[in-house]
Amino acid sequence: MQARKEKIVLILPNHLGDVVMATPALRALHHGRPMAEIHAVIREELAAVLGGSSWIQRLWMHSVYATRNPLQRLARRLVLARALRGMDCVIVLPNSFSSALLAFAMRAPRRVGYKRAGRGWLLTDVLPPLRENGRVVPIAMERYYLDLVGHLGCPDTGTTLELFTDAESVRECDALFRRHGIDPDRPLVCFAPGAGFGPSKLWPLRYVAEVARKLLDEGLQVALVHAPGEEALAEEILALTGPGPACLGGEGMNLALLKAVLAHANLLICNDAGARHIAAAFRVPTLVMMGPTSIRYTNLNLRLTRLLREPVECSPCQLQVCPIDHRCMTRLLPSRVLGEAHAALSDEGWQGDVQLELRG
Ligand code: SF4
Repeated sequence: MQARKEKIVLILPNHLGDVVMATPALRALHHGRPMAEIHAVIREELAAVLGGSSWIQRLWMHSVYATRNPLQRLARRLVLARALRGMDCVIVLPNSFSSALLAFAMRAPRRVGYKRAGRGWLLTDVLPPLRENGRVVPIAMERYYLDLVGHLGCPDTGTTLELFTDAESVRECDALFRRHGIDPDRPLVCFAPGAGFGPSKLWPLRYVAEVARKLLDEGLQVALVHAPGEEALAEEILALTGPGPACLGGEGMNLALLKAVLAHANLLICNDAGARHIAAAFRVPTLVMMGPTSIRYTNLNLRLTRLLREPVECSPCQLQVCPIDHRCMTRLLPSRVLGEAHAALSDEGWQGDVQLELRG
């Protein structure tokens, strides 16, 4: 009789960048448990970012956050948990109480996660996060997630981010470029001016427009990529730049297509948001405008990523909305970013902030 396969499910994080930073953990689990059936729970709208990966046998997409009603959210979690009964192990990547509750409701005999948010009793394998003076120390999310998988004995296969494109999205991307007059053989600079986290992370749109206009005037191809719901940002930038940038976002954009577009870019200029991690996974040079957030959560995979910051005393505040004058971003001037862009586009030996890796 054939032995029953071990079934392991990961509850993935709820933000795009964090899902990308979980790919080293997915890879380690795939290599560390080659005979196991690996499942993953993910928000429906993020699932395409993992498309093309062979590390997961089944993705369980959910729409828990499509409602704000807490009872409806609970009901959706319980339905999901019921569907996922029969797992041998659940690995809980998010820190939330609700994600540990979901794992508990699955009734898996082994439930692995960090001791956060008063949820220790819901888990069987409770890992203490690194603390200093009672406070959790920020560490790179790739490492944070890898350590959970390492707890199951999976060998570390490195912290490199890894994503995949599929043939259909590459074809769609070619068609999109043709519609917008983008020549795939000429350099393309992409701007991703949005950030789901909140307005505190946004580099001023007038600065985006200024740099985009200058690069266009130098003869470069420029594209704006934005998520559905960020149309107003793109419109404001286009109103300032005038004609020239290709606007590749909006309703026609999806994560599979975004991967194909960014994989093609020669440079991405963006905020500290999901697009930067997709670009890092495809080895695309990237300039990241960083203001309110700590680099210690993301100071890995910087070989081709440069983090542009201004030394302001209030940073990192980790606030979604700036309570003062947003100086961390307004002091980050277009002239500096333009200089960095020129270097990244013309210098063959250009490197990201490798010296910052794991130092914080
Ligand atoms: S408080 Fe400081 S770090 Fe936070 S968003 Fe405002 S200017 Fe930036």
